[in-house]
Amino acid sequence: MTDTRWPVPPAVQPVLAALAAAGHDSYLVGGAVRDIVLGRLPHDLDVATSARPEEVKRLFDHTIDTGIRHGTVAVGTKDGWIEVTTFRSDGPYLDGRRPQYVVFEGCLESDLARRDFTMNAMALTMNGELLDPFGGLRDLQRGRLACVGDPQRRFREDGLRLMRALRFAVTYDLDLAPSTQTALWQVCDAIRPVAKERIGQELLRLLEGPWHRRIDLLATCPLWQAIGGPLAVLSTAIEAVGKRLRKARVDAVPPTGLAALALWYAMVDDGPEHVYQAALKFALGRRHALWLRAAATLMQRLLRDPNQAWSVEELFAADPEVARAAARACAWLFADTPDVVRGAWRAIEEQPLWSLADLAVSGRELQALGAEGREIGRLLQDLSQAVLAREVANEREVLLARADRELARLRAERGISHEL
Ligand code: ATP
Ligand code: MG
Repeated sequence: MTDTRWPVPPAVQPVLAALAAAGHDSYLVGGAVRDIVLGRLPHDLDVATSARPEEVKRLFDHTIDTGIRHGTVAVGTKDGWIEVTTFRSDGPYLDGRRPQYVVFEGCLESDLARRDFTMNAMALTMNGELLDPFGGLRDLQRGRLACVGDPQRRFREDGLRLMRALRFAVTYDLDLAPSTQTALWQVCDAIRPVAKERIGQELLRLLEGPWHRRIDLLATCPLWQAIGGPLAVLSTAIEAVGKRLRKARVDAVPPTGLAALALWYAMVDDGPEHVYQAALKFALGRRHALWLRAAATLMQRLLRDPNQAWSVEELFAADPEVARAAARACAWLFADTPDVVRGAWRAIEEQPLWSLADLAVSGRELQALGAEGREIGRLLQDLSQAVLAREVANEREVLLARADRELARLRAERGISHEL
């Protein structure tokens, strides 16, 4: 125990106090403690206690059996739900994912011992004292992520921990401790029994962090190959991103989430198809799969032929959100390229018009101006091209004035041709 007192979130204090008053040990545990120690805002609060689930239910007015088989009861407080779990020890792991059974014959130490990483295996008392039997604080201070206990055994027990290791290293900007890294390399096949959607979820969470700082880990780790399928090309893709980053020495905030994934895949042949397949296989959803394919396709085009002008038709066919994300991601990765190239991408990012619906005047208003039949289409086309070329602003009065002039011109033209 250290002398430092850490701030215990007010929401959890009455829960810990009520359990203590009833004679039970209880602590704030897991990710919340890690986040408090790092000065971050914890996003979910987990309590571990010696009280059995039935006793927890007796002690509090509002409870839900969220995971009673695992000893978890959610307790409702005025500041939200808190998960209260009876100290548990895990039985043997037989399927590479979950313990065969859990026993509620535990103490705090055995409860912490079954947790994945030292930084996730710390506890806080009601008074803000840190209990840290596995040295999580020291590991965080050294900027490293280490398994609790023997890393090989822990990864074999539950293969999801391999993905969690990468995700935590990225999110918290940590190096893997040497023995944890060696184990990850050696037992990456333990990922096999893990459900595809769990891998997909972890990948998405990893992509939200400053992934560019851990690019070497991501490029060289053998996990993508072990997962296989459309993720196997990620080693090559991330390596290509890393090569660019080293050249450009980019350290600005990278694109995150789906835009980052599209950018990775845009670096390899058939990337758009691979990312589409990956999204379907790892349960990211069909809508995201389509988005990713469109974004990776656009990125490849921007990267391969950066100066090519976009036709009005192409721009009108593009999804503005995809196009902006693609342009922004390319501009980030190629921050060292000449201004003219980035200028072209910036123009896409700041594109004023993506469809006729974005135009500040409608066909009906042109009709009110006196235009009829095919004249309306001609006018809409003229106005949209003028806005895209930034000749005029996309403002109603400006466009109506231009439409008026253009209509007169069209009719004069027709008058001349009639006369001929
Ligand atoms: P976050 O909520 O930011 O994802 P977290 O560490 O809180 O991070 P959770 O999945 O909410 O992660 O799990 C809560 C805690 O349960 C973890 O801090 C860890 O102690 C333990 N834990 C979660 N998953 C595993 C696992 N696969 N193996 C061992 N312990 C785990
Ligand atoms: Mg959590």
